[in-house]
Amino acid sequence: MAITRILIANRGEIALRIHRAAHEMGIETVAVHSTADADAMHVRLADHAVCIGPPAAGESYLNVANIISAAEIAQADAIHPGYGFLSENAKFAEIVEAHDIKWIGPKPEHIRTMGDKVTAKTTAGELGLPLVPGSPGAVSTVDEAKRIAAEIGYPVLVKAASGGGGRGMKVVPEESQLETLMSQAKSEAKSAFGDDTVYLEKYLGNPRHIEFQVFGDGNGNAIHLGERDCSLQRRHQKVLEEAPSPVLSSAERDRMGQVCADAMAAMGYRGAGTIEFLWENGEFFFIEMNTRLQVEHPVTEAITGVDLVREQIRVADGKPLSVTQDEIRFEGHAIECRINAEDPFTFAPSPGKVSAYHAAGGMHVRVDSGLYAGYSIPPYYDSMIAKLIVYGRTRERCIMRLKRALGEMVVEGVKTNIPLHQALLEEPDILNGDYSIKWLEEWLAEREG
Ligand code: ADP
Repeated sequence: MAITRILIANRGEIALRIHRAAHEMGIETVAVHSTADADAMHVRLADHAVCIGPPAAGESYLNVANIISAAEIAQADAIHPGYGFLSENAKFAEIVEAHDIKWIGPKPEHIRTMGDKVTAKTTAGELGLPLVPGSPGAVSTVDEAKRIAAEIGYPVLVKAASGGGGRGMKVVPEESQLETLMSQAKSEAKSAFGDDTVYLEKYLGNPRHIEFQVFGDGNGNAIHLGERDCSLQRRHQKVLEEAPSPVLSSAERDRMGQVCADAMAAMGYRGAGTIEFLWENGEFFFIEMNTRLQVEHPVTEAITGVDLVREQIRVADGKPLSVTQDEIRFEGHAIECRINAEDPFTFAPSPGKVSAYHAAGGMHVRVDSGLYAGYSIPPYYDSMIAKLIVYGRTRERCIMRLKRALGEMVVEGVKTNIPLHQALLEEPDILNGDYSIKWLEEWLAEREG
């Protein structure tokens, strides 16, 4: 039976994004929401809405029993998890499928494999993806860590197998500090993820973060949709993303993209995925794979014309991908600015009532957001309130249009990081595409100093 009604297990702009793709396919939507989100745009636009609990995410957006009950009450025949929340929870995916509800996401076993960084790395290596030099698996004793670190050379990075958001990660400059930093990483990982498994990697000095968008049909066919450059980060959080990467030639894109697509085909991967690499001096090093839609997926949509959410729904419905690798063209340039309700330079969150709102518009300007005038941004969730995605025939034209569009955005009543984006777009390094994952933090430190 074809999908006719999708429950969207998420909130904010991504819930809207999924709702829009569903409606364009003639599919109804069911919004779920916490009591704090009763007036949210995703609830207003969906065909049906079910309240699933109090504001705390643990009791609502992460509440598996309530979400499954909502799906049954609203008679949804599929669930889309968006990103974050339950999107990479293999157990949840299994529960959804056990209730005869279609899971709009990868096979649970692939979510599980890639969710543990140690098994992800081993699997990636077996699939032919280039790895950061490091320990072959988890490292349990300090002696073993010392031996491996001496082989790969300092500085090394201790990383948590269950890590996420940069937590449980420690840079070790030299052997004398290994024992202390390793035990710090372990206890941080234990308290954040309930798992103190760690592994070692060579710490790359000045890499870029370049990730490939992949898509599989679950039956051994897979494609890639090129890369995104997400090097502009603060505390491992992406701030601005672009496609294509300013440093990759089309030959390199085709070659590496094919390596990624072949790996996904060999796995029998289903749905959307992102393979993240660090890139330094022309070399790629796998760091992790995200088995879900990414926040920054619209830049890929802008340069390929492929609606990724539509493809996710098609594949979950047992249909083939609507495009072949040969049909995918990379045209022009796209940049996404993540707009957060926060102080642009101290980054302190700034929730509250939006007194006035006007979204930028015009040719090749896309704003994905649930904002409206009078909306109160709740303090309980992520501070991202909008994404501004701009396309141009060339990178230069894209940047000119982005500056124009940022100038049109009006969000009053709360602070936003729009002034940060505007300041970044005046920086020669950004204009030249000459930045690594260290750039933003160094720039911020200089501003302060
Ligand atoms: P998480 O899941 O916690 O976000 P990742 O493995 O994706 O962890 O790494 C997050 C970020 O940490 C990367 O985007 C990069 O900025 C930095 N990083 C990770 N591994 C390395 C490494 N081996 N050398 C240098 N920086 C790294």
